Amino acid sequence: LANPYLERQAARESNARSYPRRLPLALSKGKGIYVQDTDGRTYIDCLACAGALALGHNHPVVVEAINRMLRDGLPFQTLDLTTPVKDGFVGMLFDCLPPAFAEGAKIQFCGPSGADAVEAAIKLVKIARERRTILAFHGAYHGMTHGTLGLTGHLAPKQALSGLMPDVHFLPFPYEYRCPFGVGGEKGSRLSAAYIERLLDDPNSGVVEPAAMILEVVQGEGGVIPAAKSWLQEIRRMTDERGIPLIVDEVQTGLGRTGKLFAFEHADIVPDVVVLSKAIGGGLPLSVVVYRPELDQWTAGAHAGTFRGNQLAMATGLATMEFITAERIDEHAARMGERLLARLRQIQADRRSLGDVRGRGLMIGVEIVDRDAPIELPGCHPPAPRLASRIQHEALRRGLILELGGRHNSVVRFLPPLIVTAEQIDTIATIFSEAVK
Ligand code: PMP
Repeated sequence: LANPYLERQAARESNARSYPRRLPLALSKGKGIYVQDTDGRTYIDCLACAGALALGHNHPVVVEAINRMLRDGLPFQTLDLTTPVKDGFVGMLFDCLPPAFAEGAKIQFCGPSGADAVEAAIKLVKIARERRTILAFHGAYHGMTHGTLGLTGHLAPKQALSGLMPDVHFLPFPYEYRCPFGVGGEKGSRLSAAYIERLLDDPNSGVVEPAAMILEVVQGEGGVIPAAKSWLQEIRRMTDERGIPLIVDEVQTGLGRTGKLFAFEHADIVPDVVVLSKAIGGGLPLSVVVYRPELDQWTAGAHAGTFRGNQLAMATGLATMEFITAERIDEHAARMGERLLARLRQIQADRRSLGDVRGRGLMIGVEIVDRDAPIELPGCHPPAPRLASRIQHEALRRGLILELGGRHNSVVRFLPPLIVTAEQIDTIATIFSEAVK
């Protein structure tokens, strides 16, 4: 650690810090898709604050929104009290949501983080339904607070913590590459849906009469795993038929990331609850939960928190939504995502360690595998987390910030700002290819 900032960070910050271990960077500037470190080196940021920086670093509309707040002397924090900025934010968000969901829907502002909104969503459905059990999915990620860890499918981070929301049942996610039913592909998704429906109706499964089901349309931290459209439609049908509210966690996918404003729109389904954070704050901390009005059973004061009224984040979020909708950045993200997928598939053709290349829009994952090890499931080699980590470091050395994810930390994740250009996509693919080589 030659850098003094990194030295002091290592000396003083908690052991729990993980990004700086994998990405030993001290950043001094950011512009668009680029960041600069304190030694003056430039990097392409394909992590973009875990997808929160939809418009990249210091986008002019975001900077102007902050400047306007300062210039006009607007209040930064108002608890739940309304302001023209808040009114504009809510109006714009409801305009962005599909009318079939937004019509009559209610919004609750939560704390600054995605986990805060997930906590709120769970409280909401438990109170409204007077039931306790939540259905969640293997590999899911909903946050790191005590309550949300209970819903997170990955065991490692919660093993030492007993007494986490005990009433959670985990169901198989349609992970087509490493299918839990050992078949893979579309057939694996069909088996997952059929199995879930059987569990819902089996009085001995312990899954009966849940308060709600929560899912990610594309699992992000879990390894960039898009759920098939037909699977999502089956899930919506079976939850509808049984009156189970469906909570869609769009914390990472929301606001254009997957090539549509909201990922559930890919499947033409209408959720009962949508959880949003990251991009909707335009890079500043903000989270909300939006839900069907009949779930609005909690009483005044049932959910409180000081920093739910962050006006600065609403201003930057509003400016971001205005820009994304005016410039059709969601459609741009779809095109750029196709381009990056195509480039990565070309690289996959020559590089044996790239087991699976998948994604939706600008949420793309490359599963790094050990091709020399015996096949585990049809067409699927064992994960190679150490190789994935080496690729990440080689990319970093070449000026490309990538993050890993997945149940074995063997999936290289691409989450560039949505304003990335075609030329920049090609540069990203070239650097990645060299790093793999
Ligand atoms: N849900 C999903 C789908 C996420 O990807 C994340 C964060 N990566 C969270 C919830 C938690 O958000 P936060 O880190 O802001 O608490």
